[in-house]
Amino acid sequence: MNTEQNVDVAVIGGGPAGLSAAVTLARSLRSVVVVDDGEPRNAPAEDAHNVLGLDGVVPRDLLAAGRAEAERYGARVHEDRAVAARRRGGVFEVDLAVGPTVRARRLLLATGLVDELPAVPGVRELWGRSVLHCAYCHGWEVRGQRIGVLGTGPTSVHQALMFRQLSQDVTLFVHTMPDPDDEAWEHLAALDIRVVDGAVRMLRVDRGVLRAVVLADGHEFPVDAVTVTPRFSARSDLYEQLGGTLTEHPTGAFVAAGPMGRTGLPGVWAAGNTSDLAAMVAAAEGAGVTAATDVNADLVAEDAAGAASARAERYSPA
Ligand SMILES: Cc1cc2nc3c(=O)[nH]c(=O)nc-3n(C[C@H](O)[C@H](O)[C@H](O)COP(=O)(O)OP(=O)(O)OC[C@H]3O[C@@H](n4cnc5c(N)ncnc54)[C@H](O)[C@@H]3O)c2cc1C
Repeated sequence: MNTEQNVDVAVIGGGPAGLSAAVTLARSLRSVVVVDDGEPRNAPAEDAHNVLGLDGVVPRDLLAAGRAEAERYGARVHEDRAVAARRRGGVFEVDLAVGPTVRARRLLLATGLVDELPAVPGVRELWGRSVLHCAYCHGWEVRGQRIGVLGTGPTSVHQALMFRQLSQDVTLFVHTMPDPDDEAWEHLAALDIRVVDGAVRMLRVDRGVLRAVVLADGHEFPVDAVTVTPRFSARSDLYEQLGGTLTEHPTGAFVAAGPMGRTGLPGVWAAGNTSDLAAMVAAAEGAGVTAATDVNADLVAEDAAGAASARAERYSPA
């Protein structure tokens, strides 16, 4: 199979996971199509950290370089949206919003996740800049600053402790989170983390700059950065169309996959945030490479078995 729309592997999603998988597969001389509609998760951020050798890389620059590498080895990248997937006989058919249907022997889902943000005015506007979720991604950039933690769930206390490692000025806004237990209170108090009761009405933003957290009662607390805990929801339309179901997790929902990226659906692999809600860029890249090696191994075995039965037929007595 080597025409553009009739390929060994369709990779859905051209983020760090999907493009890494595409490079690995294309370097094994597998015909690969990547379908990507250009909404990588960290696009709102100016730069990415903890990407070894590329610290501070602009997210879209990283992907442009990855795409060029994949294409250099022969992968085809479609800027399009995969809208439907089904299995027909031994192949998968993937319909695109604009382009023609892709037919592939194997499917690798690297569609990432959606960060469902708390519905507080100002949060979406500053998401990825001064509204953060990940201490490892941009914690260093706000070290020593006035950090507000928007409490929305049981993990908000943990987030406050994480950011306290980076700044002595941390305030936990209880907002909608459940009451901390006794042990949590002790930890918060011991580390001088202020706890402010009451619902948050909005973030005060002045010409794109975060100024303060505003409570429903009108009180304002000046801050330089706010942390939130989104619900992480894997993009799973295609997986569900193929008969898969999402696995619930305290922080969201994901496509369950084994260590090599195999899902419960034969012929379907998943990598990156689709199957690991906590994967940062480097982990997503690693998962893409790992899944690609397993997809290739699976195809190698199928090709060898096919060749063996063809040979047996050729040499069998008439
Ligand atoms: C604000 C923010 C900042 C971050 N900063 C960092 C950081 O500094 N360092 C770090 O290591 N990590 C960071 N992360 C985490 C990082 O974004 C993820 O680790 C990474 O994006 C996961 O890669 P992925 O390939 O799994 O998914 P994504 O990067 O989200 O890529 C998925 C791709 O699939 C495409 N897609 C989805 N569905 C379809 C479809 N049906 N058809 C076609 N295309 C589709 C999307 O458009 C997207 O391009 C940050 C996250 C956020 C939210």
